[in-house]
Amino acid sequence: MANHPETPTIEEYEARTPLSRTYYEQFCRHLPGGETRSVTQYDPYPVVLTEGHGAVVRDVDGNEYIDVLNNYTVLVHGHGFRPIVEAVQAVLATGVVFPAPHLRLLEMAQIMTGRYPLVERVRFTNSGTEASLLALRIVRAATGRQRVVIFEGGYHGSIPEFLDGGEQTVRVPYNDTDRAVATIDSSVAAVFAEPFLGSGGVIPGTPGFLHAIEDRAHAVGGLFVLDEVQSLRNAFHGMHSSLGLEPDLLVMGKVIGGGFPVGALGGAESLMNLTNTRKGGHLAHSGSFNGNVATMAGGVASLRALDEAAISALNGRAESLADQIEHTARRVGIPASVTRAGSILHVHLVEHRPTNAEADKTVPEAWVSALHLALLLEGVYAAPRGMLNLSTALDDDQLARVAVAYEKAFSRIAPFLDASRPMTSAGR
Ligand code: PMP
Repeated sequence: MANHPETPTIEEYEARTPLSRTYYEQFCRHLPGGETRSVTQYDPYPVVLTEGHGAVVRDVDGNEYIDVLNNYTVLVHGHGFRPIVEAVQAVLATGVVFPAPHLRLLEMAQIMTGRYPLVERVRFTNSGTEASLLALRIVRAATGRQRVVIFEGGYHGSIPEFLDGGEQTVRVPYNDTDRAVATIDSSVAAVFAEPFLGSGGVIPGTPGFLHAIEDRAHAVGGLFVLDEVQSLRNAFHGMHSSLGLEPDLLVMGKVIGGGFPVGALGGAESLMNLTNTRKGGHLAHSGSFNGNVATMAGGVASLRALDEAAISALNGRAESLADQIEHTARRVGIPASVTRAGSILHVHLVEHRPTNAEADKTVPEAWVSALHLALLLEGVYAAPRGMLNLSTALDDDQLARVAVAYEKAFSRIAPFLDASRPMTSAGR
């Protein structure tokens, strides 16, 4: 993300993070662009984090931040959550991975099929990306069709056909029911959708849109794949249950690994059985670390603690934080709105809450960058693009400090936004 030369916060940021800067130069000597995960990069350079405790992370310069990024929604219980630490420590000395079924895998699979009723059978992977890849293979094998419909601003992992486009991928604007229904025809193997655009700006799908694309996919003999990699944290039985959706396959990840690499694909036995090694012509699906003991142990502990009460508390606190941030923006006089799905929020530097991925494209990158750096200076670690999410580790005092930090960050960037307003009304 390019920075405007007059962004007011850069000098202060550089003054506060000299060691991060020095290390960044070293990182760049060994890793292209200094990173191994695109989203971790931001200008002028990212802070190098050394440790996390509960809802607080610390950088190499000793600065502390309240963590409202939580590794992009993964760490729903924050850092060093005791039940996860104990569960994983217990398996470290006795073997973390075996080329065999293990009872922790059974325990985790039982939780998944018990908690998500549509998940009659589940397979584990090492990332949401891998789970989406497996879904792609299954829907193509099941339907004998190749085409896939996805949505603008949607994300299902680093999958070439989805990211770079491909002859067999059709992309439609999110929440545009008419366009989607017209596009989903009998050549389509599956529609892949998230219940809200996650990396595309935390933009909820309207129930009408989500039901229409599911119904249309089924009407043309195709399948509906719901990507709940981010959204599982928002509803005990998954957002598909709370929305009354009945996807054929569910792509899952993040909170189900307790902070360890994970992904999972679940669905009806008939469909998942395409990978059943006891059946002739099955789709082979392996991975050296699939269902490894450390991830399963961490996942069991994470999901056990993410019960209905925890989820409802997280969602309620996120709702009130979203209101506070919007009110604050109005008071300070900057154009901002907050979209929310459960405990995940996105602060958009546009006046009205967007309903698809288009509105944010009108916002100068320098504004988004300025807000992000201003938040870091105020001690809050959020996503460079504007997303934040809550963990159960965050206490009332920390939550209140996050709200105050937004107010101060808005005040810091207000003069810059005023001075660099686009000539048109776009972006307001
Ligand atoms: N689907 C969604 C909705 C996601 O948000 C992500 C990751 N941000 C993925 C899939 C990919 O998961 P992973 O990063 O574990 O590969």
